Amino acid sequence: MLGGTFDPVHLGHLRSAVELREALGLDRVHMVPAKAPPLRGQPRVSPRERLALLRLGIGDTPGLVADPRELERDGPSYSADTLTDLRHEYGPEARLVMALGHDAFLRLADWHSPTRLFELAHLVVIDRPDFDAPLSPPLGELIAGREVDSGDMLWRRPAGSLLRLALPTRMAISATEVRRRLAEGSSVRYLLPEAVEARLLADSLYRRS
Ligand code: ATP
Repeated sequence: MLGGTFDPVHLGHLRSAVELREALGLDRVHMVPAKAPPLRGQPRVSPRERLALLRLGIGDTPGLVADPRELERDGPSYSADTLTDLRHEYGPEARLVMALGHDAFLRLADWHSPTRLFELAHLVVIDRPDFDAPLSPPLGELIAGREVDSGDMLWRRPAGSLLRLALPTRMAISATEVRRRLAEGSSVRYLLPEAVEARLLADSLYRRS
């Protein structure tokens, strides 16, 4: 599972999802847009539109799935609830992985039920250029004794370990920068899939009104 606001989806998300799947030999990567992200303001673009852009971005990419389950749930989009759902779907023996970028990882101790996340899945932290701060003491405590140093070690049990992964392509693309460029009418070519760019421009999404 790779959750996020996807406001909007960009090539940093999509390329990371493809490389994550290859690096760990995952069957599929569920990309799950948050309806109401608990730790940030509500995006201006609706959850349905963000999901539609994600679908366009994924297109026919093998193994990537645009997963609408958080849009179908009331209340805040907690990853612990999403993983609980996935655990029911795939069963107690399945190896589940929750992937997140290093910036999101740095705030993990503030998430809802962070310990529960490790009961439900392995956590894989994707290295991200421009984000490299020291870990807070609560985060250090949360991950103590969980770290493994290779993907193979994740497959020994269904959940509970932490792996930090440097994927082959590190992309300094952020949705914040994409939104800023769209707001001022600058080019976003090659930051997003062309189909996503075309939809954003046709619908004047993120334009300064
Ligand atoms: P924003 O700039 O609005 O905060 P974002 O670009 O970080 O957005 P999110 O939707 O918040 O995008 O990200 C979803 C997940 O993907 C997070 O775990 C985030 O760390 C990760 N991610 C986002 N961009 C990249 C990237 N360029 N490389 C690797 N991981 C990324």
